[in-house]
Amino acid sequence: MRHGKSKVAIIGAGNVGSSFAFALMISGLAREIVIIDKNEIRAKGESMDLTHGLSFVSPSKIYASGYEGCQDADIVVITAGAKQNPGQTRLDLVQANAEIFKNIVPRIIKYNKEAIILVVTNPVDILTYVTLKISSLPPNQVIGSGTVLDTSRFKYLISEHCGVDPRNVHAYIIGEHGDSELPVWSNANIGGMAFAKYCPTCNKHSYCGSNKELAELFEQVKTSAYKIIEAKGATYYAIALAMLKIVAAILRDENSILPVSTLVENYYGISDVCLSIPSVVNINGVTRFLRLELSDKEQKEFKHSADILKGIIKGIKF
Ligand code: NAD
Repeated sequence: MRHGKSKVAIIGAGNVGSSFAFALMISGLAREIVIIDKNEIRAKGESMDLTHGLSFVSPSKIYASGYEGCQDADIVVITAGAKQNPGQTRLDLVQANAEIFKNIVPRIIKYNKEAIILVVTNPVDILTYVTLKISSLPPNQVIGSGTVLDTSRFKYLISEHCGVDPRNVHAYIIGEHGDSELPVWSNANIGGMAFAKYCPTCNKHSYCGSNKELAELFEQVKTSAYKIIEAKGATYYAIALAMLKIVAAILRDENSILPVSTLVENYYGISDVCLSIPSVVNINGVTRFLRLELSDKEQKEFKHSADILKGIIKGIKF
């Protein structure tokens, strides 16, 4: 433990920040949870509401604060900023949220250079890169939630399709957390059996394994956020659990393999961009990543995803 207090600071007390605070409180993982928002009244209201449930869960200290609350935090989570309106892509948020990060990140660093920073605000890959540049922290210390959520959506949809527990599906979405992300079908497996081999043995659907069917399944993953935002204005429960998984991996030094957004160097010839690849996450943040054996098609799609992100980074003034 960096500070030994299991302290998590959450910047942004909106849908995502408060849902995560609730999940974190129930998990009992953190001994201290501090909530920071430019809307101080909202931050106070959220912390008050949460503290009134403390008699039902493991003890922790929960309070609203200014940026001084980042001091001694093991992890600082950023969920502050604009969210997508119906029809908007994540990349549409880049200008507004990059400006917000220019304000937030130096204020975190003023109080804490040791914490792992977990970026969740969209576009998450771009803002992870922006945070790295502004903070000058080492790359292992700055993580984006990346495609951890998309991967969970992917596992769930495959599990529904195949009629197995999602925890027995091992498959990743990599690249941008957004429209250019890609599924790694070549490495997908169910209970240790390669997906391509599992499919013909399942007999659950006559169409199992058809390219059209798999493409539709991935399309559902990619468009889920749009559908949820259309229906209820925002997505927050599943991302809160994805964040909890990442935070648990750090606080408990788990060495979990998660597709977080991280600075890649020389990955299929790609460098100097943050995007998601399966990475080992522990108390030091991202310590290494897995060099997946991608098919030719996947390599091409991965490069395309990186090119899109690089093009956007070029337009940002640091
Ligand atoms: P929200 O509007 O409910 O909350 C945003 C909060 O940020 C508000 O409370 C606002 O007061 C605060 N804020 C804005 N500017 C700030 C500043 N300068 N300093 C401190 N606080 C500030 O939005 P939400 O639904 O919670 O979504 C938050 C972000 O998370 C969005 O960018 C959204 O796209 C993103 N998101 C990411 C994922 C993912 O998988 N990475 C999933 C869902 C949502």
